[in-house]
Amino acid sequence: MEFSDLLINWYLKNKRDLPWRKINDPYRIWISEIILQQTRVAQGLDYYNNFIAHFPDVRSLAEADESEVLKCWQGLGYYSRARNLHFSAKTILEKHGGIFPQNHAEVRALKGVGDYTAAAICSFAYGLPYAAVDGNAYRVLSRVFEMDTPIDSAKGKSEFFALAQELLDKKRSALFNQAMMDLGAVVCTPVAPECVHCPMQDVCLALAHGRVGELPVKSKKVATRDRYFYYFFIETGGYIYLHKRESDDIWKGLYELPLVETPCPMEADVLLDFAQNTLFGKNFPSPQVDKIHSAVTHVLSHLRIHATLIEARAAFLGDASSEYIKVLKSDFDNYPISRLTEILLTQR
Ligand code: SF4
Repeated sequence: MEFSDLLINWYLKNKRDLPWRKINDPYRIWISEIILQQTRVAQGLDYYNNFIAHFPDVRSLAEADESEVLKCWQGLGYYSRARNLHFSAKTILEKHGGIFPQNHAEVRALKGVGDYTAAAICSFAYGLPYAAVDGNAYRVLSRVFEMDTPIDSAKGKSEFFALAQELLDKKRSALFNQAMMDLGAVVCTPVAPECVHCPMQDVCLALAHGRVGELPVKSKKVATRDRYFYYFFIETGGYIYLHKRESDDIWKGLYELPLVETPCPMEADVLLDFAQNTLFGKNFPSPQVDKIHSAVTHVLSHLRIHATLIEARAAFLGDASSEYIKVLKSDFDNYPISRLTEILLTQR
């Protein structure tokens, strides 16, 4: 039996019951695919349902305020993906009259839509013959065909994509792509794959040659950088101060407490001197520090952030053009914040 028949036959008996598989609305498929790029299905389901409840179609997303979109994304991370969804919804409204594009080139041209997502949308929504190669597909293919080309190299990407496209059942592209994802997610997992329950066990070269644990191959190790964040929870008469991150750094568009970033860890007295020159001198007079919490280490894909929450009292010196906004504590939940800020605030 051919690879695609083995795969699809297995899938038809074992498929996961996911809400976006029962629809062919390209908008909802797009949202689900972007959410699933950064989270597991169990957690992604809640985000998907909440996002669709807030923005049921392209127009509602395009016309939303960016803060509303980020609020729905809060906790998922990779906020640029939410900003790209928002941007592309506006593009669909302006360039395509609010109708989701129906050919591969136009779908692929949307901001934030790469080869994988374009293929997933086009096959699931329209049955177009494009193989969607995600991490699951790389893993399954590298093992079944014992491919050693690094999956994070340009050569690897083009080899794996060409192979997937060749194997694709062109008349059943949606089933093929969904089956590949499920096999990689449920059976051919990164650690301890269940080869005894796998439909590929008779044809899998890595299994035959005892090389399952070696594949897939990756070439690069991503360097991790340390950053040191000191957040000041400054309270004045029921109000706190927030700052919107605007630069092209992590968490663009999210709100956070007044922040002092230092090049290395600092003791409290040195830190307050440092902060005097950056935060306090300009916007707040010398604060009264009430409490310095223990540092929390928060790991992102390429960063290790060492963050400390400091509770303080100080009057605000800034004017209307200040980068800080004064917010009623009771309104704080309306602002999109990073997972790190959420974690820090639970220390209070
Ligand atoms: S036999 Fe094992 S290694 Fe090969 S595809 Fe199946 S689960 Fe993966």
